[in-house]
Amino acid sequence: MEKEKIEKLQKLIDNSNKIVFFGGAGVSTESGIPDFRSVDGLYNQKYKYPPERIISHSFFVSNTEEFYDFYREKLLIDGVKPNTVHISLAQLEKKGKLLAVVTQNIDGLHQAAGSEKVYELHGSVLRNYCQKCHKFYDDKFIKNSNGVPRCSCGGIVKPDVVLYEESLDNKVIEGALSAIEEADLLIIGGTSLVVQPAASLIYYYRGKDVVLINKSETPADSKATLVFHDSLGSVFGALKI
Ligand code: ZN
Repeated sequence: MEKEKIEKLQKLIDNSNKIVFFGGAGVSTESGIPDFRSVDGLYNQKYKYPPERIISHSFFVSNTEEFYDFYREKLLIDGVKPNTVHISLAQLEKKGKLLAVVTQNIDGLHQAAGSEKVYELHGSVLRNYCQKCHKFYDDKFIKNSNGVPRCSCGGIVKPDVVLYEESLDNKVIEGALSAIEEADLLIIGGTSLVVQPAASLIYYYRGKDVVLINKSETPADSKATLVFHDSLGSVFGALKI
């Protein structure tokens, strides 16, 4: 990684007070959470359907038990901890330099690192609700359940996760949009910016500088002030925060 680019990013961060970080799966993969969208031979061996089909609303309704087999194994990962990226962002917020984190991840690791303003576009595996009486259940309840997790009232418990075919929460989008509109620096990390509608949120940004950190190229690379084709951890690890 070029020292000059890190110095430029350091300067941008030092001079900003309303940073918004927009993050994708790459933020969590460094904590050991697999990107369930990425091609994985295991899926084909063990599951009859591609992950996008299993993590969909219609599949949840029609094949609830199979949904939960996949969900427990692939989306509820034991012992994961926040990494350098989560911790650095939480520190920036505490210093009053970061407005919000907008994330496509559902693992709650930003909050675990101490971040308070987090817009979870796709919800969180830490929150689960009975579809009948709306009673709350945590992730451990789901992890320790067998088959289809049921509430004490008999209703089926559903994760507060936005499945395929479901729409994003309007309040979460509004919050994310107003943070992005207000931002004086937008850092986008660990996302290939191809998942909609989350990817189009960045068009609401009115500031000057955009920093993109992703292992591979993205459609927005040409619009960015700074582009890193590196791991997020190595970039954040090189900064003084
Ligand atoms: Zn219930």
